[in-house]
Amino acid sequence: MRKKIVAGNWKMNKTQAEALALASEVVNMVNDEVRGNVGVVLCVPALYLPILQKFTNLAPNVALGAQNCHNLAAGAFTGEISAPMLASMDVPYVLVGHSERRQYFHETNAQLAQKIDMALANGIIPIFCCGESLQQRQANDHFDFVTNQITESTFHLSPQDFGKIVFAYEPIWAIGTGLTASSAQAQEMHAVLRQHIAAKYGEDTADNATILYGGSCNEKNAAELFACPDVDGGLIGGASLKSREFANIIKAMVA
Ligand code: PEP
Repeated sequence: MRKKIVAGNWKMNKTQAEALALASEVVNMVNDEVRGNVGVVLCVPALYLPILQKFTNLAPNVALGAQNCHNLAAGAFTGEISAPMLASMDVPYVLVGHSERRQYFHETNAQLAQKIDMALANGIIPIFCCGESLQQRQANDHFDFVTNQITESTFHLSPQDFGKIVFAYEPIWAIGTGLTASSAQAQEMHAVLRQHIAAKYGEDTADNATILYGGSCNEKNAAELFACPDVDGGLIGGASLKSREFANIIKAMVA
């Protein structure tokens, strides 16, 4: 079944004390105010995953996610974190292929396919990020570019494994810029992605795929974006760093 998810991507923000406060506030707000079937995922700096579990353990609808994992299980990769390590810490989700990882760390579709395999082999749900640049959109290349990202990183999977992935469509030009895709642009791309999935895995799998929107989503525009029939929630960057605003975005998903 298609899941509704609102995920926060904290990126490289917050000290320990700030992280504890933010997670505690979000969990309390979700427990007190959110009625309805929406999963919340907090993708926090890896360092804080263990200390934040005491909060997420108190909230059945809130889970933790890492922001990245390596494509191999172990080895001489100083500074990296592997999927088996995350699994050993009971981390249920991991972001894979965020545009900042693609841009600054040169992650390729092929490498991301390996990261997805590694996450799934360790029982972790990948939130696979995809999205086009402004240039690609202006050249009318955006549908081909994003569907190709999905093909190259996920279409090697068995239908069973494919069904476990969460997708996040994040136009690069909308991330952290304050420029949100219009609800029409988001819906259009999500529908194209669903058709693309249907052509490979069939209508049922496509219909059940969870596809989030990300890119300058905030408490003002969330309700309109989430009302689109093919938008199943959001991946939220900047606005997930403020508990009140993030909780309001979550509530927009169940309203
Ligand atoms: C993100 O980084 O995934 C994101 C969507 O960021 P923002 O909401 O700040 O645009």
